[in-house]
Amino acid sequence: MPDAQANRVKTGTEPASHFDAVIVGAGFSGLYMLHRLRRLGLSVRVYEAGGDLGGTWYWNRYPGARCDIDSMNYSYSFSHELEQEWKWTERYATQPEILRYLDHVADRFELRQDIQFETRVTATVFDEATNRWAVQTDGGGHVSARFVIMATGCLSATKVPDFKGLDTFQGTRLHTSRWPREGVDFTGQRVGVIGTGSSGIQVIPIIAEQASHLYVFQRTPSFSVPARNAPLDPAYVSQMKETYAEYRRKARETRAGVIMEVNPKSALEVSPEERERAYQARWEVGGTSFLATFSDVMANRDANETAAEFVRSRIRATVRDPAVAEALCPREYPLGTKRICVDTHYYETFNRDNVTLVDVKASPIEELTPTGLRTRSAEYALDRIVFATGFDAFTGALFNIDIRGRANASLKRKWADGPRSYLGLSIAGFPNLFTITGPGSPSVFGNAIVSIEQHVEWISDCITYLREHRLECIEATAQAEDEWVSHVKEVAGRTLYPLANSWYIGANIPGKPRVLLPYAGGVGAYRKKCEAIAAQGYEGFTLTRAGEAFSTPPPLPSARIPSQR
Ligand code: NAP
Repeated sequence: MPDAQANRVKTGTEPASHFDAVIVGAGFSGLYMLHRLRRLGLSVRVYEAGGDLGGTWYWNRYPGARCDIDSMNYSYSFSHELEQEWKWTERYATQPEILRYLDHVADRFELRQDIQFETRVTATVFDEATNRWAVQTDGGGHVSARFVIMATGCLSATKVPDFKGLDTFQGTRLHTSRWPREGVDFTGQRVGVIGTGSSGIQVIPIIAEQASHLYVFQRTPSFSVPARNAPLDPAYVSQMKETYAEYRRKARETRAGVIMEVNPKSALEVSPEERERAYQARWEVGGTSFLATFSDVMANRDANETAAEFVRSRIRATVRDPAVAEALCPREYPLGTKRICVDTHYYETFNRDNVTLVDVKASPIEELTPTGLRTRSAEYALDRIVFATGFDAFTGALFNIDIRGRANASLKRKWADGPRSYLGLSIAGFPNLFTITGPGSPSVFGNAIVSIEQHVEWISDCITYLREHRLECIEATAQAEDEWVSHVKEVAGRTLYPLANSWYIGANIPGKPRVLLPYAGGVGAYRKKCEAIAAQGYEGFTLTRAGEAFSTPPPLPSARIPSQR
C-alpha cells in the first residue's frame, strides 16, 4: 500500500518526503517493525540517533555488557530460517555478539536502506486536516507520515545525576550507556564507579581487573544471582533448534516470555531444609529463574524474605570482610522488586585488595572535584569516573521528542502525572501513533524480545486491518485508556513492586510521578487481551476514514465504525 504521495519531494517549508510510516529507533523493535511494514508494501523511514543499528545495544558497549536472558531466547522468533542459521556461542551473549546478530538480521532482510543513522527525531505533530504526522529531525529534516511508531526503547534515555561540580572533573567521565566505540583502557588508573544496578554489576568485576584501584560508590545494594555463563553445548543447541517453534509458542504464553520451571509450592509451606535445597539448586543453575524457586517469591512478602535471606547468606559466604559483606546485603526492599541482577564474580570482586566499597547512602556524594569526588566524609582522587546510574525509563526517550497530537496537545503535558495509554500501545488524542513496549505493557517484566515481537505483529496486523477496511485513523478512546490505566494500577497494587524505589516506578528520577510503568499482568495474559481486542474489530479504539490514502468513501470524521465481527 505505498501511500499515493510517498517519497514525493517537495520544496520550501513543506515536508521533503512523505512516508506511510516513520519508525523512531533501529534497535530490536525498530528493525522488526521495518521488516513487517515493508512486507506490507509500505514506504517506511527509520530514524536512528546512533551511528549504527542496535538501539540500547549500540550504546551500552561497556566491558562486561551482555544479556541476562539466555541468548537462545533473547533473539527473534519470526523467521524459522534466521533462528536455524544463527549460532549463539554463549549462554548469555555479549554486547558485540548481539550487535553481530542484529547486523546479520539487517543484512538478511536488507533493512539498512531504509534507516537514516545519526538522525534524532526532535518533534512530531499530528495534522488534523490531513490525518498525517509531520516529523522533524535534528539537522532540519521534515517528512510526513501516516503512522508514527515509537521504537525508542524502555531503557535508552541516559540518566546522569546532577552532581555539583559535574563539569569540573579533569579526568575522564564515562557513562555505561554512552560508552566510547574505541573502548577504554583502565590499566593503572584510579577509577570510581557510581551505581550498582545491572550495568554497574557487569562492569565492576572487569574494571577491577585492570584498574590500579577501584572505588565502588554504592547507594543501594542490589540482589544479584550468578549468571553461570558458559559456552553453549552443541547438543543443547541442536535440541533447541529442533523444537524451536514449539518452544517459542509456549514461551509466548508464559508470564515472563521465557519457559522456566515454576515450583508450584509456597516458600512458606516447606521445611527450612527443603527451602535451602531449592534455593541452592537454582543458585547453581544461575540466572533469573531464581525468582521462580517458589510460586510466591514475587507475591508474598514473607516468602520473598526467605529468598532474600538466602542471597544474603551467599554474599556473606563469598565476601571475606564481614563489614563489606554486610554493606552489600540489600535490606530495604523485597528481592526482585528492583530488577534482579545477573553477575559473573561480582561479590568475589570485593575480596580484591584493589577494590573499595564506599557507602554513599551513609555519606552521600556531595560534589565532583577537578581531581575526583568528595562525599560527605571523604575525598577520593580519581582518574576516571564511570556513571552506571541508569536511565529515565520508558518516558524519557518519548519526552525527548516534542510529540503533539490532536489540537496540538503535548504528550509530555498529558503524561505529567504519569503515563496514560491503552495497552501501552496507543494514546487517546494521538491517532496512528504507536509505542512499542510502551508504559502500560509488560515489556521489561520478561523477555523483551517476546514483547517486542508481539507489539510489532499487533501493529502491523492493525495497519493491515485499516487498509482492508479502507480506514485512515485508529485512536484509543479516552474511556478505554482510563480503564486500562486503572487496570494497570490495580494489578500493580497486588504486587510487591511498589515497595522498592526503582526505575520500574520512576523513583530514580527526581520529580517523576511514582507509577508502576510496566504492566504486571503477565506476557501471556496480556497477549490474549490484545488479540481479543483486535478480533473484536479493535474494541476501545475509534476508527475513522477520510482523506486520500485509504479512503474511497467520503470522510466520516470521528465516526465509530461498527465492529467488524
Ligand atoms: P539502575 O538499575 O537504575 O542502577 C543505577 C544505579 O545508580 C543504582 O545503583 C543507583 O542507586 C545508582 N545511582 C543513581 N543515582 C545516584 C546518585 N545520585 N548517587 C549514587 N548512586 C546513584 O541502572 P542500570 O544498572 O543501568 O540498569 C537499568 C536496567 O537496564 C536494568 O535494571 C536492566 O533492566 C537493564 N540492564 C540489563 C542488563 C543485562 O544484564 N542485560 C545490563 C544493564 C542494564 P539507587 O538504587 O540508590 O538509586
